[in-house]
Amino acid sequence: MAKSYFIIMACIISLLTGCGSSAPATTSTPTIITTFSVLADMTQQIAGDTATVTSLVPVNGDAHVFEPTPANGVALVNATVVIELGVGFEPWFADLYAASGSKATQITASTGVTPLMAGDETDPHIWHDVANAIIMAQNIRDGLITAMPNKKETLTANAAAYIAQLEALDNEIQAQIATLPAAQRKLVTSHDTFGYFAARYGFEVVGTGLGSVTTESSDPDAASIVALVNDIKASGVQAIFVENMSNTKVMEQIAQEAGVSIAPALYTDALGEANSSGATYIEMMRYNVRTMVTALTKA
Ligand SMILES: [Zn+2]
Repeated sequence: MAKSYFIIMACIISLLTGCGSSAPATTSTPTIITTFSVLADMTQQIAGDTATVTSLVPVNGDAHVFEPTPANGVALVNATVVIELGVGFEPWFADLYAASGSKATQITASTGVTPLMAGDETDPHIWHDVANAIIMAQNIRDGLITAMPNKKETLTANAAAYIAQLEALDNEIQAQIATLPAAQRKLVTSHDTFGYFAARYGFEVVGTGLGSVTTESSDPDAASIVALVNDIKASGVQAIFVENMSNTKVMEQIAQEAGVSIAPALYTDALGEANSSGATYIEMMRYNVRTMVTALTKA
């Protein structure tokens, strides 16, 4: 099925690009396509008004299991720059890019980040460590300068301002977490998304509903739920967390069986809508830390 889909898409694209009169005017604003919303926001901060930035996976969407449409392929063809995270986060992206025939400059935002392993899988959730977000911002800046050398001054200045904000954010997070006793820095979430966060900010990941760094796994079986419920009870946590891009049903069942509460949803693998508490990467991180500290602080 996947093959025939790509053939259909290639036909659509050759129809579009074969039609010379529809070529965009050379004076139009460059378009940057990112794979998911966290990258879109970081890129927008750096690109400023030099380009239009969009995301393939929508806000509150799940990049692990995203299914690209022919329209996504067409968007890649018309893009000046295409930005992916890498580290296995977007398993669908390489085929989509190849099938599209896009000539866009490609940026892999995770280049230079030291990956963490979760069992025998590489954990892709690097952005929850702000030090990694700074490396991502530097990669985005450098790639955009390569693609748009005439905008170097603006891109350099925007990136410097944004990286300064990220450095302040990292300090702010550390200060806020310092108010939570070390023994209460324990996370239980829908899927294993906070490995990098835990490593940088001194948390323990007690367990996760899906027991995996992707959301492709099926719902946990009864034995896994029992084991997680026992781990939650032994950990002494009073709250566990759902995620903005995941189904909450399994976590609600686990919370009920463990006798703990469900905290407000964290923004994990996607930003939220504009005007939500997770509208930007910086807002998402602030909201997550505030929500964790509030939910885990014992009265
Ligand atoms: Zn994830």
